[in-house]
Order: sequence, then C-alpha cells, then structure tokens
Amino acid sequence: MDSAIKIVVKWSGKEYEIDSLSSTDTVATLKETIRKRTGVLPERQKLLNLKHKGKIPENDVHLSALNIKPGFKIMMMGSLEEEIEAVSLPPEDLPDVVNDFDIPEEEEVDVCNREVYLSKITKRISDYKIVERNPPREGKKLLVLDIDYTLFDHRSPAETGFELMRPFLHEFLTEAYKEYDIVIWSATSMKWIEEKMKLLGVASNTAYKITFYMDYLAMITVHTSKYGTVNVKPLGVIWGKYPEFYSPKNTIMFDDIRRNFLMNPSNGLRIRPFRQAHMNRQTDRELLKLSKYLKMIAELEDFSTLEHRNWERYLSDNNQDGDS
Ligand SMILES: [Mg+2]
Repeated sequence: MDSAIKIVVKWSGKEYEIDSLSSTDTVATLKETIRKRTGVLPERQKLLNLKHKGKIPENDVHLSALNIKPGFKIMMMGSLEEEIEAVSLPPEDLPDVVNDFDIPEEEEVDVCNREVYLSKITKRISDYKIVERNPPREGKKLLVLDIDYTLFDHRSPAETGFELMRPFLHEFLTEAYKEYDIVIWSATSMKWIEEKMKLLGVASNTAYKITFYMDYLAMITVHTSKYGTVNVKPLGVIWGKYPEFYSPKNTIMFDDIRRNFLMNPSNGLRIRPFRQAHMNRQTDRELLKLSKYLKMIAELEDFSTLEHRNWERYLSDNNQDGDS
C-alpha cells in the first residue's frame, strides 16, 4: 500500500517538514529530498535516530519498513560542502598553530575583568537551569568537557557514533570520575547533547556518572578586538551555582578552542582537536595522557598555580621524578 509519509528533519537548530514522500519511497529518496531542503549531500547526512532492525538503514530500504510514525522527527548531523571547504570560519576552523595563539594573554585578562561580562554571568547564574543527572560529590574536583572535537569527531561521515568517538573515552571518564565530578558543556542545544551522549554510550555507562550537561544557553558573548564578538563558556556560571563545591581552585576545563575559556583562561586546557576519526583513531592517545595529568594534579589543593598549557611537560617532569 502506498501511503503518504510525514516527517520532520531537525538539523542545525532548524526543523524541516517533509511531506512529499510515500511509503514506497526508499531511504535514498529520503536523503535526496533532505538534500533539496537543506543542501547537505546524502553522503554527509547522519540520520541519528533512523533505524532499520536496530541498524542504520541501507539506501534501498523502503520507508514502509521503518515504521515511521506521522510527524516523526529525524535528528540529522551533517555539514554543507561550503562549510567543510571553507576556512573562513574563524576562530573555530583556524589551523592548529594559529589557534594556539588565538587570544593574546593581555586580552584574556582584560576581557575577564569587564563589568558587563560579569553581570552577564550573574544573569546566567540566576536564570540558567541546571538539571542534575547526579548530585555533586563532597570533596571532588570538577572537570568540564567540551564535546565536538574534544570527545567526538562530529564531521567525519560514519555509520555509528562509536566510530567517531575519541579513543579511550570511557577509560578516561572512568579514571577521571574517581577524583572529579564531570560536567559536559557544549555550544549546542540540550537535545543534541543528550543525543550525542547516548550515541557515545556515555549516558548509560555504569563505571562513571555525569553530574550534569550544559548547553549554549549558559554561554555568554564577549567582544574581543581580534575576533569581534564571540561566544564563550564562562565557568563562573558553575562556580556561582555551586559555590560550596566548585571554584577556580578545583576546576579544569578541556576544550579544543581556547577562546571558549576566555573568561577563565587559567582553568582551561586546550586539548588537541580530534578530527578525521578514521585516520586518527589508531594513533590518538590524547585522552590516555590527559587521564594521567588529571590524576597527578588531583593531589593538589589548588590548581591556580598550574599552567595547563604546559601539561605535557608537567607530566614528563613528574614521571621522571617518580622513576628516578
Ligand atoms: Mg569543540
């Protein structure tokens, strides 16, 4: 029987209604229709929650086989070719070397003292709702993690989220959880964060627990002379909400983009971005090494004397001490 199928594709914060398809159409036709609406090429489309017998459906599968309910919302990840080609997306896509010097130190200090930003943070502290997944634990330090390119390569095409996961993610989180409460903070919407954490098996892992997720709504915009207005993740929002647990003394944040910790530069560690998962999966050991660093510094009362940008040196210096 040939019946009409109505679905909604959610991509990049927007919803696209599609009602031109019928049950005899195939997944390939669906992808082509999505391309017409969004511009994302079929091979770039990751339709996260579209499943056929528990797996990603092949292109020749008929839509009738997918048991799609009317109005079903498909979550899509995928980038436009222009976006992928473009190197004109500063500072997110600046090459590594430039990124490392993206914000001069003077500017960091200057920015984090400005009244107007502090008042924005105060507003987030009172308005932003944190939904705790697990309660904060007495005496633990705080680790705040970015998702995209930190834990997950969100741009390479893949069949499953697992293929795009940074190697040793679960081992890393398991180790970190012993001394740190873990917070995930991503510049996207809560729905996506939840979806990604499910996809990676982080939400369901029993060896560690995530304290809470934070999304783009907890971020603030600041003005820098070099990059104009940018969005940043001010840790002050967390410190203001949990003064009895977390402070600049016991918080560390990993992000592949330094500007995200513009408001709290001494608490940020810029992690090397994990990209091109298929090429780099075999060799990327970043999380293993960082796991050692976290363990080492967890013994300190106060993180404020640390220079996280020298974390590798700290690691090798202290390792040598231990060995000799
Ligand atoms: Mg990132």
